[in-house]
Amino acid sequence: MKKIGVLTSGGDSPGMNAAVMAVAKGAALHNMPLVGIKHGYNGLLRKSTSLADDMEELHLDTVLDIADRPGTYLRTARCREFLDPEWRQVAADTLRAMGIEGLVVIGGDGSFHGAEYLCKLGIPCIGIPGTIDNDLPYTEMTLGYDTAVNVCVDAVRAIRATSRSHDRPHVVEVMGRHCGDIALTTAVSTGAEIVLVPEVPWSVEETAKKLNRQLYKGNTRATIVVAEGCWESMEPFDMYTFLNSHGKRCYEGEPISASRFASIMKRMCNMIEVRSTVVGYTQRGAEPTARDSAFAFEAGTLAVDLLSKGVSNQVIGMRMGKVFYMSIDEALQEKRKFNRSLYDLVNSL
Ligand code: ADP
Repeated sequence: MKKIGVLTSGGDSPGMNAAVMAVAKGAALHNMPLVGIKHGYNGLLRKSTSLADDMEELHLDTVLDIADRPGTYLRTARCREFLDPEWRQVAADTLRAMGIEGLVVIGGDGSFHGAEYLCKLGIPCIGIPGTIDNDLPYTEMTLGYDTAVNVCVDAVRAIRATSRSHDRPHVVEVMGRHCGDIALTTAVSTGAEIVLVPEVPWSVEETAKKLNRQLYKGNTRATIVVAEGCWESMEPFDMYTFLNSHGKRCYEGEPISASRFASIMKRMCNMIEVRSTVVGYTQRGAEPTARDSAFAFEAGTLAVDLLSKGVSNQVIGMRMGKVFYMSIDEALQEKRKFNRSLYDLVNSL
């Protein structure tokens, strides 16, 4: 292979830059020029007026300095056109015209679908799992998950200190889209009393009862960790009627949120205050932990090694603490397993 490319796609995650640096190191070891494609798959569609807006040659010297930085130097974006076969053909043609003979795609399952299509169009691709959500069942870890969890753990520890000082329960919302892993690991790591996730149905009334049990036991600083997707698995609850009849204005059709949920808990448990915090983007914009950076390094260099040997259509992952690879197709078919027993343990008291 004479020249390869690398792109980051989907939501950004800590460790993406470290993976790009590792790909650059691998490319340098194999004496292959490396092209960074910008804004995910958009950079391959040649819609910009200047080539420099879409891609740039990456030299090891440049990317060595970005390895520990959060975010993604190459930028990332969603690219709706990539769902259309005609646009994917444009992307494959662009790669051929640029002499790019292989591509490393750093992203989540959506990005891997795109990579699979490019493979079918004759462009060898290797995927590296870059998402904080940990929602790729074929691998034990995804780039950014460890960092995101550590940010949440720091946040919950700080919040619990103030909760304890003021005798106030607290609702903390963490990310993860449809996956409750960040919430569960955060709850386990901080001793949070309740965790709510999209994988397990739950009810507002039952949660209030659990919180009340904590209060009766004298625990006035209980933490409820909620995954951002947990509202999907909430049993129907008439928030509008409940809040309006308890002196809190709420408009019909307004969606529930961490702050609304805290208001409901406060009223159901007769507390003076229940506060809420949404940890938000700080989870995605943190400097990668050593664990994420080390995984990025191994995955990035392996990706180049595979391309140089003519191996394609594979994704890299981690199993039993070891970096491995398997076909994109099989990886995407694996079913997610949620750790229900750990979830039950957190919520059991
Ligand atoms: P993630 O990669 O983190 O799962 P998305 O699901 O948003 O994020 O996907 C990122 C990008 O991957 C999309 O914007 C699109 O360009 C491409 N993509 C997603 N799904 C497909 C698909 N089924 N076919 C082709 N490309 C896809």
